[in-house]
Amino acid sequence: MVEVLIAPQEIERRVKELAKEIEEALPSPFVVISLLKGAFIFTADLVRNFRDVELDFMKVESYRGREKGKTKMTLEPRVPLEGKRVLIVDDIFDTGESLDFAFRWVKAKGALDVKTCVLLDKEVEKRTSLKPDFVGFRVPDYFVVGYGLDLDEKFRQLPYIGYLKE
Ligand code: 5GP
Ligand code: MG
Repeated sequence: MVEVLIAPQEIERRVKELAKEIEEALPSPFVVISLLKGAFIFTADLVRNFRDVELDFMKVESYRGREKGKTKMTLEPRVPLEGKRVLIVDDIFDTGESLDFAFRWVKAKGALDVKTCVLLDKEVEKRTSLKPDFVGFRVPDYFVVGYGLDLDEKFRQLPYIGYLKE
């Protein structure tokens, strides 16, 4: 059973606010790099508030669990990043390893200014010193689904963010 944690109206309101915060800190034009698959719905809602952006996707996979640094890229963005301002968008900041990896990869491509935005920040111990520049909501240490986030590819379509309750 999925229990509602953040309702659709709350998400809608916060996404608009976030877009304002981002546009104040990051002048247009900039490149949005969305991390697949979890950030696809958040990105779709967020980018519709921006005036002038290029959009591309990236996929980073990490072996969940104990070992550090086991992160790899499985889809590279193709839009040139050199000298550009970039906003990396992810669904949830858990240990932080995927976003840290994406951030370093984008920097290494010669991006001028790299900012990071996550819909959710989970209250757990991090494995990086990176702090996302923009955070939608802080959530407790639950396994959350919906609004793009899945459990075995299910629940991504839910219009709210929920957590699984047995
Ligand atoms: P990190 O590298 O920060 O540990 O993990 C980030 C990725 O793990 C997220 O982009 C997401 O794909 C997945 N993840 C972490 N916590 C959750 C969660 O509570 N629910 C879901 N559906 N995915 C999560
Ligand atoms: Mg995922």
